[in-house]
Amino acid sequence: MEGSGPRVVAVGAGLAGLGAAQRLRGHGSLRLLEAAARVGGRVCTRPFGTGGEEFFQPPLPERKAQAIRNLGFGTNNKIFLEFEQPFWEPEQQLLEVVWEDESPLEEPDADLEANWFKKLIGFVVLQPPEHGHVLCGFIAGKESEHMETLSDAEVLSAMTHVLRTMTGNPDLPAPRSVLRSRWHSAPYTRGSYSYVAVGSSGDDIDVLAQPLPEDPRDPRPLQLLFAGEATHRTFYSTTHGALLSGWREAERLNQLFQAPVPAPQS
Ligand SMILES: Cc1cc2nc3c(=O)[nH]c(=O)nc-3n(C[C@H](O)[C@H](O)[C@H](O)COP(=O)(O)OP(=O)(O)OC[C@H]3O[C@@H](n4cnc5c(N)ncnc54)[C@H](O)[C@@H]3O)c2cc1C
Repeated sequence: MEGSGPRVVAVGAGLAGLGAAQRLRGHGSLRLLEAAARVGGRVCTRPFGTGGEEFFQPPLPERKAQAIRNLGFGTNNKIFLEFEQPFWEPEQQLLEVVWEDESPLEEPDADLEANWFKKLIGFVVLQPPEHGHVLCGFIAGKESEHMETLSDAEVLSAMTHVLRTMTGNPDLPAPRSVLRSRWHSAPYTRGSYSYVAVGSSGDDIDVLAQPLPEDPRDPRPLQLLFAGEATHRTFYSTTHGALLSGWREAERLNQLFQAPVPAPQS
């Protein structure tokens, strides 16, 4: 959208950026910048995680930088396994994994290389089967980040081991292909979604969402606004949180652009 009037630059065409662009009511010009090859951000293929405080020059105020440091940003990956034939029942929706030698009362084994696959919570059976016999596994945390350093062959071999152990069938055919996300290594994402880490609170989210300049008595107009799932106090880490945050910031700008321009002071 080009035109005269105020200029708005939105950085990132994830749900938050797209939502903001959708709701801005044609005041002035809008430019939407996206670093990746396609729009959609995390709903699409693979940013609060992408730069945090070091992204900004001049640096963010310390209060905001501290809020970013306080909040957590973790990794959750999907592993898609395609099989020649299903080994599960037609009505089966989930295959969940429980390791007999583990207890929720004990710290899990810290040897990531040997045990990363034990963090896998299980598999969802993808429907409909006419599109292929596909299981989708979920793995989060440091183990998920370790998985990203492995080759497809290593992941496929570990998953085959898990499935053969689960079913008690040492001859279970290996999947014929594997496809997985690598959110932690993706340069414009660097993780999956934010969380309220130990020591942080919803107040950090509110500080992060605060536009700059923060002080309402500051005579300068709003210069920098913050959207994205990590800025929504109730629905952080979700698609709807991202979208609502984009709408929230668009509405802030709409109101700003509609407000009568204050008469210059003598
Ligand atoms: C594996 C996984 C499962 C999920 N499951 C669910 C679910 O079941 N339900 C749910 O509600 N949510 C889920 N989510 C979360 C949801 O996808 C995200 O919260 C939401 O999409 C985030 O949108 P966003 O606009 O805040 O950020 P993003 O989607 O990350 O968008 C940010 C955009 O900015 C771009 N960008 C980054 N740096 C720059 C730069 N320097 N210049 C220009 N562009 C830049 C990025 O490329 C990206 O397109 C899941 C996420 C993952 C990863």
